[in-house]
Amino acid sequence: MTGSPAAMDAAPRGAEGFRLGNEILAFRFVATLSERRGDPVERIPTPERLGAWLSANALGEPGLPVSEALLREARDLREAIHRAGTAIAGGGVPDPSDEALLNRWSLRHRARLVLDGGRARWRLPDTDPARAALAVVALDAIATLGGQGDGVIKRCEQATCGGLFVDASRGGRRRWCSMATCGNKMKKANLKSARARSDDPAAHSGERP
Ligand SMILES: [Zn+2]
Repeated sequence: MTGSPAAMDAAPRGAEGFRLGNEILAFRFVATLSERRGDPVERIPTPERLGAWLSANALGEPGLPVSEALLREARDLREAIHRAGTAIAGGGVPDPSDEALLNRWSLRHRARLVLDGGRARWRLPDTDPARAALAVVALDAIATLGGQGDGVIKRCEQATCGGLFVDASRGGRRRWCSMATCGNKMKKANLKSARARSDDPAAHSGERP
């Protein structure tokens, strides 16, 4: 998808606390609100943190200026992507108002894709670069949600996550937005319940179903 290859090479500088283990840029942005089905964690609580997230995803230099108003617009964009993706993952279509919001962002697209040392990279305009960076995220969302890439849009199966991912695995059996976070959580939870079962004498004597 647009923006993703460069983003995966992003320097980890300033990336602490962000969930960057999803290969789709737009869905990494959705993950800036994590634990959506548990106690939600806002990972872009301030304009500075949104700027840090953008630069951690190869969209602009560290310290990119972001206003409070743009932070609010960014969160609106994020939630529209999440709702639209969740609708598609459930076999439906996005709400027209969410499509309209995404399309308005697409109209504002001003970044240029350039080759730099053999790699594709987004070059942002000098005026309002953070807004242009968010338009790149919106463009990635439109391309992904609209089925331009390979794979199927799914909702993460980890109980508290609520995140989205594209399952491009051969057998279509991917279950988690990110192996590094939700995949590991599920593994640990499964291990724990397996251990609990093997420690429980009732489990061996067949007294419980
Ligand atoms: Zn997840």
